[in-house]
Amino acid sequence: MEEHDVIIVGGGPAGAACAKALKNEGVDVLILEKDKLPRYKCCSGVLFGQTQELLRQYFGADAPASVYCTNDKIVEAEDIREWRRGSGYTRYLWEIDKDGKSFPTHYQNIWRNLFDKWLVDKSGAPCREEARVKGFNATSDYVTVQVDGSGANEYRCKYLIGADGGASVVRRILKAAGKDKTQAAASVSIFQSYFKLESLGTLKKGGWTVFFEPEIGEMLSCVHQKDGYLLLCVGGFKGRKLRESVEVFKKLLADEFGVKLGAWWRDEGCQMELAPPYHGDGRVMLTGEAAGYIYLNGEGISAAIDSGYRCGKAAATALRNGGDAISLFCENSADIAKHLEKCIAQIHFLSV
Ligand SMILES: Cc1cc2nc3c(=O)[nH]c(=O)nc-3n(C[C@H](O)[C@H](O)[C@H](O)COP(=O)(O)OP(=O)(O)OC[C@H]3O[C@@H](n4cnc5c(N)ncnc54)[C@H](O)[C@@H]3O)c2cc1C
Repeated sequence: MEEHDVIIVGGGPAGAACAKALKNEGVDVLILEKDKLPRYKCCSGVLFGQTQELLRQYFGADAPASVYCTNDKIVEAEDIREWRRGSGYTRYLWEIDKDGKSFPTHYQNIWRNLFDKWLVDKSGAPCREEARVKGFNATSDYVTVQVDGSGANEYRCKYLIGADGGASVVRRILKAAGKDKTQAAASVSIFQSYFKLESLGTLKKGGWTVFFEPEIGEMLSCVHQKDGYLLLCVGGFKGRKLRESVEVFKKLLADEFGVKLGAWWRDEGCQMELAPPYHGDGRVMLTGEAAGYIYLNGEGISAAIDSGYRCGKAAATALRNGGDAISLFCENSADIAKHLEKCIAQIHFLSV
């Protein structure tokens, strides 16, 4: 059995930031990632202002040019607009002030697969790829972790941190054990399709257009450009046939804006439980989207990096000084939870 002080499940932004905080404190940490990196992630791939600041604060760096889209590098906040039939465009806010502070408004358009790999490398922590966590057993002193794929089948650690995203297996296991008593507000599906862009029609070059059209889905739909492709994103309650929604959306874009799409390139999809924040139990912690941290209509990378880093700090402090890591995490991330509440109050995620 392989042993580490801390094992992090997931090499996304939350896992990488958590690992970075632990490495800074000299803690022996291993990331277990189910996929081979760089891996695709269903995401629009826009680094909002707060994310850019957090990268400098925690990683001492800006995202490098190599992870940016080559042509469509920047999305300006003022070019993100909601379109309504009959009334046209209004400004759409993806990011709001936090603790009275506003953020840069030149958003970086990146490829998530390249960005996430860069961030994991930048954490300095070892990452075992193609290692899928399937279960764990926690005692008051340690956690044993069962894993499928490369490397060991069983690990032991003092803290296990679930940074495994919106469909977190760590959270699911805690729920099945009766530890997580939160109730998800809804279960939603999100689907993205990339098409070669032949003509933008009347859509603004470099812009990002948001729609709340019930015939497409219960959630917002949106389009923006990524290196010669138009990315169509649709969402709805679990069970909605989102491939059909993409077809409805394509027709609306053609009829109302004269958009001409060429060959399909690829699809991405994911499901999310919209559950309230939950930080874990005993030696098993949750962070990032697994803990419920995602702002507004899906600005999640900043919430993942910020909560991931603070979670790592809390675990490092508990390892060094003793004390309850989860209480420390709740204390040091109170402002993140407060911002999440502010975002939830403003959300118009579901058109119900
Ligand atoms: C359609 C869509 C568009 C979005 N667009 C944006 C955007 O433009 N900007 C923005 O800021 N946010 C965006 N978000 C939100 C953002 O993608 C997420 O909130 C963010 O990725 C969460 O980071 P995370 O590290 O918590 O989880 P993830 O990024 O989901 O990372 C989790 C990692 O854990 C791994 N994993 C999962 N299960 C296991 C397991 N059992 N064992 C080992 N590894 C495992 C996964 O492979 C993955 O690498 C978008 C979300 C969606 C759905």
